[in-house]
Amino acid sequence: MSTRTCDAVVIGAGVIGCSVAYELARQGLSVQVVDRTGGPGQGSTSASSAIVRFNYSTFAGVATAWEGHYAWLDWAGHLGGLDDDGRVAQFIRTGALCLDSPAHDPARVLPHFDRVGVPYEVWDAATLRERVPQLDPARYYPPKPVDSEEFWADPVGELGAYWTPDAGFMDDPQYAAHNLMTAAMRHGARFSFHTTVVGIATAKDRVSGVELPDDSVISAPIVVNVAGPASSKVNALAGVLADFTVSTRPLRSEVHYVPAPPGYSDPDPGPLVADLDLGTYFRGAPHGELLVGGAEPACDALHWLDDADDFATAPTAELYQAQLYRAARRLPDLTVPNRPRGIGAVYDVADDWIPIYDRTALPGYYVAIGTSGNQFKNAPVVGAYLHAIIDACENGRDHDTDPVSYRLPRTGHLIDLATYSRRRPIHADSSFTVMG
Ligand SMILES: Cc1cc2nc3c(=O)[nH]c(=O)nc-3n(C[C@H](O)[C@H](O)[C@H](O)COP(=O)(O)OP(=O)(O)OC[C@H]3O[C@@H](n4cnc5c(N)ncnc54)[C@H](O)[C@@H]3O)c2cc1C
Repeated sequence: MSTRTCDAVVIGAGVIGCSVAYELARQGLSVQVVDRTGGPGQGSTSASSAIVRFNYSTFAGVATAWEGHYAWLDWAGHLGGLDDDGRVAQFIRTGALCLDSPAHDPARVLPHFDRVGVPYEVWDAATLRERVPQLDPARYYPPKPVDSEEFWADPVGELGAYWTPDAGFMDDPQYAAHNLMTAAMRHGARFSFHTTVVGIATAKDRVSGVELPDDSVISAPIVVNVAGPASSKVNALAGVLADFTVSTRPLRSEVHYVPAPPGYSDPDPGPLVADLDLGTYFRGAPHGELLVGGAEPACDALHWLDDADDFATAPTAELYQAQLYRAARRLPDLTVPNRPRGIGAVYDVADDWIPIYDRTALPGYYVAIGTSGNQFKNAPVVGAYLHAIIDACENGRDHDTDPVSYRLPRTGHLIDLATYSRRRPIHADSSFTVMG
């Protein structure tokens, strides 16, 4: 049995794993990242819609997203002036509309915007029509199955929305992970691909490293589980689940690409629309396309997976129709091609759709998991959250009984990291959807 040693092993080279590695490495730790795929960002990060919006159900969620957007705006600066062979991911500003819906009550979100300082405007149906003429502001709530007659029923009145002009998306989520990897490597982090963690080693009641299939061990006093949808499998290897009050589960989802309706994404990508009235979301994409995803309306069955690694990557007719028919009700000029084009991917869903960034009962073993289809945008901040928790715990603080707070450097807000505890009560104000 051979052994390599370092200060910290990060399991997973997705956008969040790479951000954790970057923050630990630039604080002087020797970091080893392992990922079973062939490169950074090849897990769920590669399928991400990469939307950067600010509406979440908690103050911490809104403040984290608002802080994160400043990092994306100055991405090369966040990476320490990195060039990465002339290619750093770009932020595309489109603005975002969140349509009124009892499933996402503005009265619960807008006070957080006021406190955090997120600019927004409240629009009525007439303003919606004037500002985004491609969009029909009809009210259909609650969402109905698209194969039911009720789905085609006439609308009941009209709706408004709130508009956040600063929202947008990152043009290449996988390359954003690559950028973070390259930045981490400049601080000495090492990355091993095609390397699967098959066991968590312990010694003297704390973690002591990770075990690999060839019986070798990477020894480290700190191990961070950032395994995305495989998070619960890795936690089971560590035997730490007994005191989690919030569990994580893999959920299959799909995003689809279709030609955008006239005037929506040409020449520039049209705005993100979160449509909880019908149960979908969409945004413009480069080259005149529209990206369409789902927002887990209560009328649709969710596709929970027994095994995060056993899922179909090809889009299905069922989800394609559900998401596109809903988008077509909102965008009457949208044409829906017969053949689906898109991707099946997996969310790592926490019980309340809010992530877990925390220590565990096994000293030295930490988690950044349960990202619930909504944490790409927060990746630049999450690395710093994990560093703050790890630094405090490794210096003797008990984050469970004396929670660490983190002062966001760009916006100045103080975040109580107990918000993301594995032992928290379920956040009752959550949307319990991908909106978080
Ligand atoms: C379809 C889709 C759309 C989304 N859209 C948005 C969006 O618009 N905005 C937003 O903010 N968020 C979005 N998200 C969520 C966001 O993409 C994720 O929260 C984020 O990418 C998770 O990053 P990660 O690094 O935690 O996980 P991943 O990118 O999944 O990385 C985990 C890595 O761990 C590795 N791994 C797992 N087990 C092992 C093991 N035993 N040994 C070694 N390696 C292992 C995997 O190979 C993988 O590379 C979306 C997600 C999906 C799936």
